[in-house]
Amino acid sequence: MPEQAPRRARLLAALALGACTPDPGESPPTSASATTSATTAPTSSPSSLDTTAPSSTTTSSTTDPTTADSSTGPFEPPPPCPFDRTELDLPDDAPEPQVRVLYVLPSDGADEQLDTNDTICNSVLAWSQWLSSQTEGRTLRLDTSAGTLDIGFVRLDLPNAVMHGTSEAFDVDTGFAYVRDRIERELVQMGLLVPHKLYAVYYGGTSQYACGGGAYPPVLIGQVGALYLGGEIPGSSPCGEAPWGQADLVPRYLEYAMLHELVHSLGMVDLLAPHEHSSGHAFDDGEPNPERDLMYAPRPGMKDPPWGVYAPGGLVLDLGRDDYFELPDRSLVDLSRSAFLEPLPADPELPPGW
Ligand SMILES: [Zn+2]
Repeated sequence: MPEQAPRRARLLAALALGACTPDPGESPPTSASATTSATTAPTSSPSSLDTTAPSSTTTSSTTDPTTADSSTGPFEPPPPCPFDRTELDLPDDAPEPQVRVLYVLPSDGADEQLDTNDTICNSVLAWSQWLSSQTEGRTLRLDTSAGTLDIGFVRLDLPNAVMHGTSEAFDVDTGFAYVRDRIERELVQMGLLVPHKLYAVYYGGTSQYACGGGAYPPVLIGQVGALYLGGEIPGSSPCGEAPWGQADLVPRYLEYAMLHELVHSLGMVDLLAPHEHSSGHAFDDGEPNPERDLMYAPRPGMKDPPWGVYAPGGLVLDLGRDDYFELPDRSLVDLSRSAFLEPLPADPELPPGW
């Protein structure tokens, strides 16, 4: 529509001016992600769209999403999990855009072998199958080699304390909010990123700011969506405390969080989507339980419920199907047209700005 471009330009300008800068006094547990105070330069932008700690850490089966829709839908058989550690990106089975999974540790981080003991693999298969169940069999294309999920291992040169950050400043070198940016910067410097891949990083380090972060193109271009497995936000339970990476492949907090960050990193929720707020999140006030949306975040200053990852039935991809999946408005970023989807859509699109 004709007005879309100017409105988008105004919104982007507003973001660039810091209109969405988080209130420094805002406490992470109640503000969910909404942290992008994006500036125009991606390298100095804040890290992103971050996932806060689980609002409920109950591990009892009564509230686990064990009745999630993950058991329905026409799935491809999932790729097997790898046995052996590799630091190399093994030969790809597909040439199309794909999600590469990495287990990344700071130089002094404890190696829990999560890349070879099936934990990360199970986590990936859980969110992948959940997405497939929501999309009639479509999911993000995973990096596989000879049919096996290709999980890379990376030991960074920097210790956890440096990666963690030391200040509240909006500074990519020291800011607590920039863990994702520093991970991406280190991976770039190590020559580990290739242009047509999005990276799902399971990072075995800490953060006091969030449980994860993603890019948000075109405002914040980036190739890394990350979970901070050692994250601990004051006032919240540890990010990795709830079970995750389970063999039952039922998605739980960290699985949903990883997919949430990857969807952000593909450019959603579009700033012009009807229920978008806080730089890429959805609050669909036309739905009875807006907190069950994959891209939900509580609205700043409102008494919105915590993310519904423990709701019976789990989360839903784009409640109402009007913000980021199978949209009639083709000017909006839409996961159903993403070139990262498998099978490849008829009119595949890369994330805006890629
Ligand atoms: Zn988010």
